[in-house]
Amino acid sequence: MPGYAPDMPEGDALLRAAQRLQVLVGQRVEVETPHPRAAVKQIAERLDGLTLQSVEAVGKNLLLRFEGGLVLHSHLRMNGRWRVEPRGSRRVGQPWLVLRGETHEGVLWNGPVLELRRDFAPVSRLGPDILAVPPDIDAMVERLRGSQPAAREVGDALLDQHAVAGIGNLWKAEALWEARVSPWRPLADVRDEELRAVLIAAHRLMHASVEGTRPLRRCYRRVGRPCPRCSTLIRSYPQGDDARTAYWCPNCQRGGAEPAA
Ligand SMILES: [Zn+2]
Repeated sequence: MPGYAPDMPEGDALLRAAQRLQVLVGQRVEVETPHPRAAVKQIAERLDGLTLQSVEAVGKNLLLRFEGGLVLHSHLRMNGRWRVEPRGSRRVGQPWLVLRGETHEGVLWNGPVLELRRDFAPVSRLGPDILAVPPDIDAMVERLRGSQPAAREVGDALLDQHAVAGIGNLWKAEALWEARVSPWRPLADVRDEELRAVLIAAHRLMHASVEGTRPLRRCYRRVGRPCPRCSTLIRSYPQGDDARTAYWCPNCQRGGAEPAA
């Protein structure tokens, strides 16, 4: 739809990327960093010819482990994308990174966070992964309660990767709609059962997406269209310090300091 920014990669997109990249695991990979901003990091020099041992999605991070204990940390931010193509595919433009295996190559496009480390510390600072099976809902509720000002709105808090890793703007909106919780309610007003319902809905919807059954969108980017439950028109408004757009049904999801229409 015109006027909407591209979808930000969420935890489910990262998990799909990790699945596609498994084709390279166990192989010695040729590594190139065609983009000049990636080239300065000297990643290719350090990784070229090493065996890729594993690829794992942790929240919104992709961790690629190489022999010798080197871990490449890729966070896609707004526009980053991993593609897996047959080896030697022609392409236009300069990807950040190419990992070339025997039959396929993994290609990373667009200014992501890309860092090479001996071991990966920041993951421990992330909240529990919403896609974990089973998800640690109790720990997520505890983190949402513990590390946040009680006045913070629940819709904003759900995007805090230190509380829960993997939820982005799309699944935030859909999970809140499923659980009938307004994004504008302060955390202090949201009961534990309600928080749990939101987190369980996010887990369920995101897993359905990973498995390829695309759940219907009920409110995300459906401004001015009828709520599938009650036919009230869906609204949107920027929320939080990053002004990410919140979507909600003003009838099913009441409460909090909802912006005036
Ligand atoms: Zn509704």
